[in-house]
Amino acid sequence: MRVAVIGAGGAGLAAVRHCVAFLKSSDQKYGKITEVVCYEKTDKVGGTWVYVPETGVDHYGLPIHSSMYESLRTNLPKEVMGYPDFPIPNHTDKSYLTRTEILNFLNQYCDHFQLRPYIQFLHNVECVEPSSDLETKNNQLSQSVRKWIVTVKDLKKNILKRETFDGVMICNGHYFEPNVPTIEGQSKFQGDQLHSHDYRVPDIFINKNVIVIGAGPSGMDLALEISNKAKQVILSHHYPDPIHTIFPENVIQKGDVVKFEETEVIFSDDSKEKADVIFYCTGYKYSFPFLKKNCGVKVDSNMVTPLWKHLLSVENPTLAFIGLPFYVCAFSMFDLQVQFVLKFWFNEKKLPSKNEMLTDEVMELKRKMEKGLGKKHFHMMGPEQGKYYDDLANIAGITPLPPVLTKLHNESSMRFLDDLVHYREDHYKIVDDFNFIQLN
Ligand SMILES: Cc1cc2nc3c(=O)[nH]c(=O)nc-3n(C[C@H](O)[C@H](O)[C@H](O)COP(=O)(O)OP(=O)(O)OC[C@H]3O[C@@H](n4cnc5c(N)ncnc54)[C@H](O)[C@@H]3O)c2cc1C
Repeated sequence: MRVAVIGAGGAGLAAVRHCVAFLKSSDQKYGKITEVVCYEKTDKVGGTWVYVPETGVDHYGLPIHSSMYESLRTNLPKEVMGYPDFPIPNHTDKSYLTRTEILNFLNQYCDHFQLRPYIQFLHNVECVEPSSDLETKNNQLSQSVRKWIVTVKDLKKNILKRETFDGVMICNGHYFEPNVPTIEGQSKFQGDQLHSHDYRVPDIFINKNVIVIGAGPSGMDLALEISNKAKQVILSHHYPDPIHTIFPENVIQKGDVVKFEETEVIFSDDSKEKADVIFYCTGYKYSFPFLKKNCGVKVDSNMVTPLWKHLLSVENPTLAFIGLPFYVCAFSMFDLQVQFVLKFWFNEKKLPSKNEMLTDEVMELKRKMEKGLGKKHFHMMGPEQGKYYDDLANIAGITPLPPVLTKLHNESSMRFLDDLVHYREDHYKIVDDFNFIQLN
């Protein structure tokens, strides 16, 4: 089996690590990986953790992928951010690390498992499509029947290559395609409009009246960060009640922006405020610009579908999407997902029928809708993440993730909401699979 991995961020590295383990394994009971090729469009591993001061397009005319800003510190403690068999080393007395520390960690992971030889840097995947000899055998995977044609551009040589693979793991991230809401009068507004994807340093906000739209983790963090420089920050969101964290005095909360005028914005309570900059912290869209329609997966209202367990294409299960769920312990989840995929690719576990997989997805969507969540929240985990991890581990017969990860993730999310200004000072220690303690 030849496997292609698209992207060398945290997910792609986990994919290459487990594929390489199969490649090197002498146990051929369940089939063998004969080649692993990871295509990475930049010249570095680490994905979104690679800080790029520039915005817009890169040297090769491709959109800049990373959404990192200069001062970023993690919003999760390092104790839940490592991989199951490669935790973040404990040689600092803090839990919330800088972006550079996480990037260094990903490079250490890559070198520890000797993954670099498998990565083709500056190779942009332009197209993934099934080959014409695609067929199904009793709905189970058969190594000889499914092939994928991957067209990739060698950016340095400026040439296109077409390669054939038996399996493709898509690890291209989902924080690079800005989601910008449409609001009446947007084009009339004379000030600047910026999405958080293109934010790097706060100096652009010096003495400005800024409207931050969106109060997810980035919106709240960034409202706080720019309040040091801006004259006034209005944090606009549609939560029914004000957020209960203590913001600096120049940050005020308001409802949705309903209309723009040339120099002012109008809110849902009909109030009007002067604005110099609109700062969209309105999240991202799932995007797979290289995926041909006949691959059998689409993005519907920001739900990637039809997939089994947020992961395997129901139509063509040799196509896997690593890392779609959000509000998770990302690197541990990537590891679990990759192991899950390989169990099915090598027929160590049998896939359910197509109908069962589709029903599973429909039922999960129904459960989410009953809780008032729409398709755009389908891949959101948060407090539910433990169930998802257990589900993957039970179905595929792999080592489950320790429940303490979900417990500490949830604790950190609560602290974020309660005390945005100070929560990163908390220092944790995991004591066993179920318990953590706070050291300060
Ligand atoms: C600002 C910000 C802060 C965050 N903070 C945290 C945090 O504190 N804690 C946490 O756990 N998570 C955080 N995250 C989530 C973070 O995205 C995940 O932790 C994780 O790094 C995602 O890894 P990934 O491999 O899925 O995607 P990415 O890191 O985005 O990597 C995708 C890779 O694919 C490559 N690629 C894309 N398209 C192609 C193509 N066509 N051809 C070839 N290569 C391609 C890209 O260049 C990139 O290297 C944050 C995200 C952002 C944006």
